[in-house]
Amino acid sequence: MKELREAACRVIDSGYYINGPETKAFEQELAAYAGCSMAVGVSNGLDALRLIFRGLSELGRLRPGDAVMVNANTYIASVLPLSEFGLHPLLIEPDPETYGIDWNLALKAAEMADAEGNHPVRALLTVHLYGTPSWNEEAAAELRNKGIIIIEDNAQAIGATFHGIPTGGLGDAAAFSFYPTKNIGALGDAGAVTTSDPELAATVRALANYGSDRRYHNIYRGYNCRLDEIQAAMLRVKLRHLEETSSRRRATAEIFLSEINNPHITLPSTPDGCTQVWHQFPILCNSRDELQKHLSALGIDTDIHYAVPPHLQPCYEGILTGTSLPLTERLADTILSLPIADLSDDEARYIAHNINSYSEAERK
Ligand SMILES: *Cc1c(COP(=O)(O)O)cnc(C)c1O
Repeated sequence: MKELREAACRVIDSGYYINGPETKAFEQELAAYAGCSMAVGVSNGLDALRLIFRGLSELGRLRPGDAVMVNANTYIASVLPLSEFGLHPLLIEPDPETYGIDWNLALKAAEMADAEGNHPVRALLTVHLYGTPSWNEEAAAELRNKGIIIIEDNAQAIGATFHGIPTGGLGDAAAFSFYPTKNIGALGDAGAVTTSDPELAATVRALANYGSDRRYHNIYRGYNCRLDEIQAAMLRVKLRHLEETSSRRRATAEIFLSEINNPHITLPSTPDGCTQVWHQFPILCNSRDELQKHLSALGIDTDIHYAVPPHLQPCYEGILTGTSLPLTERLADTILSLPIADLSDDEARYIAHNINSYSEAERK
């Protein structure tokens, strides 16, 4: 808190509030962290995704009607930036181990869509949901051979790694969110795009600044999606403490994984070679709603991510409906997120103990 106050005062005193030294420094620090050559600070995570997909469209790499594969169980913010630019969200069932996209199904879907030819598959959006990396090196290489662009939605996974490579540095570009409850939270809205593609980085930067590549010269009909200096200063502090906060989440997750032994509960798994950052700790339970009530009565606040998947949202009625996604729908009915941020070991044990006691209550 002291560090945040000092950083905020530095910005107030500097008189620079937009496009100043804090944003520049944060962009360099984030790019280095993600192992990318460039980062662009932006207004929020949804805008980061919108700028990537609009940027790819401006560069002619995506065209209206192209299909973009994405896991169907993701947050709505992964799907909105596709339909906004006339791209066709091709919803793919998740992998039950990572809750990210099932890469083998994605490979099959890409082939099938090729054969049908109506919505050519040109991109895949991999969402590292709940802080778990969703990547498959062989499948990614095969998709790239077909010319498919791979974008990461890294809103939930900053600090996670896949075989030592940070998420946000695996695909052709990545979107980050620094919404206050994310693993790095600004004191308001903030986001970023990382990429090692200079053309895409320049396009995203221009689009985020009215579409201008230099002052009063507009090459795109752009937006105002910039990151504020004050948020950049907050994020620089938080980025320096990311390892500490991730370790605390991991310690809590370890307690849940070793102490929850209720046979009615399915615990999340850790894919080979990955480190997770536990944005959420999702468990599955067939009587999820009763379990949630049981925990709530004991003062344990849980949440559901997500009770209604994008294809069943009213805004996509008649557009994404009709898709058969049984696994996605079963997850929506059985998934429950345990508290995971800023817990002491004792609090974690209390939660584990009460999840185990639910099993006893149910057996009676
Ligand atoms: C939070 C989130 C977003 C959107 O980020 P905002 O900063 O809230 O706009 C996008 N995708 C996923 C998976 C998210 O969790």
